[in-house]
Amino acid sequence: MSGFIYDFIVVGSGIAGLYTALLAQEHGSVLVVTKAGLEECNTRYAQGGIAAAVAPEDSPERHMHDTMVAGAGLCNPAAVRVLTEEGPARIADLIERGVDFDTVHGEVALTREAAHSLPRVLHARGDATGMEVELTLARLARFSRVALLQNHLVTSLLVENGRAVGIGVADLRQGQRKEVRGRHIVLATGGAGRLYYNTTNPEVATGDGVALAYRAGAEVESLEFYQFHPTALYDPSAPPFLITEAARGEGGVLRNKDGERFMVDQHPAAELAPRDVVARAITHEMRRTDQSHVFLDLTHLPSEKVQLRFPTIYRTCRDLGIDITQEWIPVAPAAHYMIGGVRVDLWGRTNVPGLSACGEVACTGAHGANRLASNSLLEVLVFARRLVRAAIEMVPEESFADALSVLRVSGPPAEIVVDPAQEGISAAELQELLWTQVGIERDGAGLTYACDQLADWRTRPVQGSSDRDCLELEGMFLTAHLMANAAAIREESRGAHYRTDFPAPDPVWKKVIVQRAS
Ligand SMILES: Cc1cc2nc3c(=O)[nH]c(=O)nc-3n(C[C@H](O)[C@H](O)[C@H](O)COP(=O)(O)OP(=O)(O)OC[C@H]3O[C@@H](n4cnc5c(N)ncnc54)[C@H](O)[C@@H]3O)c2cc1C
Repeated sequence: MSGFIYDFIVVGSGIAGLYTALLAQEHGSVLVVTKAGLEECNTRYAQGGIAAAVAPEDSPERHMHDTMVAGAGLCNPAAVRVLTEEGPARIADLIERGVDFDTVHGEVALTREAAHSLPRVLHARGDATGMEVELTLARLARFSRVALLQNHLVTSLLVENGRAVGIGVADLRQGQRKEVRGRHIVLATGGAGRLYYNTTNPEVATGDGVALAYRAGAEVESLEFYQFHPTALYDPSAPPFLITEAARGEGGVLRNKDGERFMVDQHPAAELAPRDVVARAITHEMRRTDQSHVFLDLTHLPSEKVQLRFPTIYRTCRDLGIDITQEWIPVAPAAHYMIGGVRVDLWGRTNVPGLSACGEVACTGAHGANRLASNSLLEVLVFARRLVRAAIEMVPEESFADALSVLRVSGPPAEIVVDPAQEGISAAELQELLWTQVGIERDGAGLTYACDQLADWRTRPVQGSSDRDCLELEGMFLTAHLMANAAAIREESRGAHYRTDFPAPDPVWKKVIVQRAS
């Protein structure tokens, strides 16, 4: 396969990779490379749904307003306008491709999530929206002309004369390395929840794309903003499992161990306050009561409604011995969504010609400092289409619509020489460091410590139990370093970034931090 040229090489097979591939195959040859099975990705675990202004009483302007408010002054208005105006047409396209959204009386059913001013979130199979979307797109991809390479991990981007021209890839089954060349390289590698000790993300979410792009000379933006979901199921013996915000949208309330609704005193919207507010309030309540979790109470809601609306949550909890119609669910915050990422323009292009990015790995600026719930799946659909259009037709040369000022800094070194004589470092040590020092609350001393520690760890061998672990870890340390560095630079609190030593927003910081390798 070495030397073979595709029109598009897409790295990743979540919604971003598959939707891009399905659109791109109408215009040329497409290869999708993915490091695990086709359907293993964040997308398949999405529960709540996809936000879009499809209701008669809603409008793109209203959706835009809510998105900008959640983004805490750092949204790129041009990106939000594109997102909210083009969103409804992308939903219609998904429906045409076979995604079966839930309906009531023949109309799509809409639910409300935190910080949305009205119900606007489409969902499927109750609380299994991501599964419906992923399985539908994967089925279409399997029966399309798209070439699929599973269990292949992309380890590098090939850059010649400043242009991305291909990928270096490791075949995880056969243990071989190869290079594949392509005219357009699209990163759709998803998020980085696995950098943290507690996360809602599956194993593949190790932030590879940020490290790959940064090493190839791409700029990365807003990596200090990581969204923590307030309510992951607390069961240390079970795999990560999210309890969707829609459970609070439908009337679920948070209680401490004594049954008190502690959110009522914290925010006028109580349980439906923005995610960062709820995540911090839970953290404080856990600390105050010396508990490892709080509880989400759905027991006052009609039992049939709970089972019908949240079948996956009902079944998963029941299998773990919790009947959510009768008992409170133990929950705690967990790392959930990478808000920043590889900096792209309104057409998905990075600053490296030939290299685009889409989905959770990309930073379009649409989420600002805090993502509005259920906007991420919509962002993928809208910007995937734009990215493919930009590859096949002339689009306006307009590039990064810089409505905000930009602070450009030289980030940590992209490459580091490893001393094999030193002691190896494992993922668990990294995850603990990020959780404690670059987590829900941070401060200058902790962030400096994290940066120093990461600079040191990056010169040591990685300690993994498989080839894949080791290859992933190299990227994880770099992505973590970029996140800690950005968080150390931003001396204020805004959106998902909360500094206990700078607890308020500072107008001086109404700018985005962009890092580039020197
Ligand atoms: C539990 C959960 C619930 C969520 N609920 C919602 C919701 O209700 N609404 C919403 O809008 N958003 C939700 N999100 C967020 C949303 O699901 C994700 O942001 C979105 O699915 C990301 O899609 P993606 O295609 O960018 O990444 P992913 O779906 O994660 O796909 C990434 C792909 O890249 C592959 N990959 C990664 N690195 C490499 C490499 N080096 N080489 C080859 N392949 C690689 C992975 O294997 C995977 O196939 C949720 C997320 C989680 C985890």
